[in-house]
Amino acid sequence: MIYSLKQVSKVYNSRHGKVRALDRLTFDVRPGERVALLGPSGAGKTTLFRLLNATLRPTRGVLFFAGADVGALSRKELRAARRRIGTIYQQHQLVPSLTTLENTLCGKLGSWSLLHTIRSVFQPSRNEIEQAMAALESVGLAEKRRARADELSGGQQQRLAIARVLMQDPQVILADEPFASLDPALTETVASLLLGLVHNGKRTLVATLHDIDLALRYFPRIIALRDGSVVFDTTPREVSREVLAALYVTESAAARGEIGDERARNEKGEPNCEPGCAR
Ligand code: ADP
Repeated sequence: MIYSLKQVSKVYNSRHGKVRALDRLTFDVRPGERVALLGPSGAGKTTLFRLLNATLRPTRGVLFFAGADVGALSRKELRAARRRIGTIYQQHQLVPSLTTLENTLCGKLGSWSLLHTIRSVFQPSRNEIEQAMAALESVGLAEKRRARADELSGGQQQRLAIARVLMQDPQVILADEPFASLDPALTETVASLLLGLVHNGKRTLVATLHDIDLALRYFPRIIALRDGSVVFDTTPREVSREVLAALYVTESAAARGEIGDERARNEKGEPNCEPGCAR
């Protein structure tokens, strides 16, 4: 397994007391899987995303990455684990004043020392340029290599963020709302790019999505969260409109009692749905 979560909970200490963002999540992700994380705002998607990229640790339970308990890793081991996980953030986190090529070279940050990275970004070797150009070519941005990141359109910036992850060459790609700012035509391009990166089964892709149709269209596995618990973990074929309506039921409907059984079960503290079950 690339990920294995065993009764993972995350509790934040906020000014207003403790907030349980995730509640006893238990599921596995196999190498090469493509998983979409769905759920309404506040469901715990970002928290789960940060646990998966090892920038947060569980409060309770155990999260294994490639067989290692992330909570028990030393700093050095944690850095090594993070190098194997490429994250594409919604805001892209590009350096606006650097060129497309330089931003791509930044994908090696983490594998190289800071000094080596700075040197390589500004004085890359022939081999590094070749790698970066190959990454830019695969996202269709080779001709933009000298353009500054802040001169690119939203869609081009999204593709550049993918090129940077390609340069990192990670085992897992975590993408936070990868299609959020794209028009339908670009969504198709970026979706086939992202899914193409993992199609040979060597890389794993986990993406948070708010667009249900895209999740159902492109991802063979859908994990839906609500109130920090897994509501369903299944294939698109098993996801019915009723199940989705219950997932996104508004708080006011919940207050009026117009909610599905799942929410009521959660409130009674009954156990999570097991992988593969859809309600
Ligand atoms: P999502 O990404 O699905 O919107 P989050 O993971 O951001 O959900 O949040 C899950 C819950 O945890 C929410 O109730 C949110 O308010 C709370 N939360 C998230 N981050 C923090 C934090 N740093 N401190 C306190 N509470 C937090």
